[in-house]
Amino acid sequence: MGNDLNKKLAERLKGLRLNREIRIMEVCGTHTTEFFRTGVKDLFPRNLILVDGPGCPVCVTPNEYLDRAIEIGKQYRPIIATFGDMIKVPSSTSSLVKEKAKGMDIRIVYSPMNALEFAEANPGAEVMFLSVGFETTAPAEAATVLEAKRRNIKNFSILPGNKLTPPAVEALLVAGEVKIDGFILPGHVSAVIGTVAWRFISGRYGKPCVVAGFDASDLMMGMLTLVDLIQKNKNITVNQYSRVVREEGNRTAVELLYQVFTASDSRWRGIGVIPGSGLAIRNEYADFDAAQKFPVTPPAPEEAKGCRCGELLRGLITPPQCGLYGKACTPEEPVGPCMVSMEGPCAAYYKYWSGR
Ligand code: SF4
Repeated sequence: MGNDLNKKLAERLKGLRLNREIRIMEVCGTHTTEFFRTGVKDLFPRNLILVDGPGCPVCVTPNEYLDRAIEIGKQYRPIIATFGDMIKVPSSTSSLVKEKAKGMDIRIVYSPMNALEFAEANPGAEVMFLSVGFETTAPAEAATVLEAKRRNIKNFSILPGNKLTPPAVEALLVAGEVKIDGFILPGHVSAVIGTVAWRFISGRYGKPCVVAGFDASDLMMGMLTLVDLIQKNKNITVNQYSRVVREEGNRTAVELLYQVFTASDSRWRGIGVIPGSGLAIRNEYADFDAAQKFPVTPPAPEEAKGCRCGELLRGLITPPQCGLYGKACTPEEPVGPCMVSMEGPCAAYYKYWSGR
């Protein structure tokens, strides 16, 4: 936090005097980490509370997804291509890293297109890409499916696990389990879906919101603006990341996404099935849907005993309130996904929180 602007913002944040507790939820894994990493969270007054929400895609993916991927791996022996943050995530009874040690062919890729190119170069093998993410990654996955069709690559498929974030925020608001005064909204997701997709929060639920970027000044300005809106009872949505986010979002990316996917009901860890919160592959691209190409019945999903990721993702607890945090559950030996992903709240607390 070197420059003059940051010093001034830090002084304003530290000097905030609130006449009551204010609780702000962020719904972005990168925000979760950056509030800690930049030291901005340490500047909050005691009664300004940051609540972590369902903003980490790996964390909100339920065990049944990974259980299915592993069952497909066992029965059909495809090469499983995945982003690195899925590899250590525990499934109900195993994990990809454990299955790899037992001989399952699992490759880490940096984009879905890497996986497609690998499939094209290895026509004798089936390649299944684990498609887990929010609105930010889904357009690239859609583009890869379109490219697979265009190049007539038949040994490539994706296991769809993508999710849409606004329905999850609405589900939390409807449930009303946790008191939230306002939201810091995700910059990357908003760059795709636009500020317009979030206006229901202030419109229907009377909660102010700020779309924020990711560096220290973005985070501090976002918090200061949101606290000001809350204190003045101004229930509006402010876009403070306008250098990247537009009101209508990125229409090209959204159109691309819906060319291949269609909104579907989807299960979220800790929340349950949320209508219209997932992305299923459209019928015309069913050949690239690994769930249809490789039918399996995975064993009934089981949650790790004592893991409180579900409550965490609903904003009900903080990681240190889980009895396993830092003891039975560490980044080296994770019990739940929130300790694995770079964007997981338990991993962020473990790495950056001085109270550990
Ligand atoms: S500390 Fe580990 S066991 Fe506890 S909620 Fe987080 S990931 Fe789950």
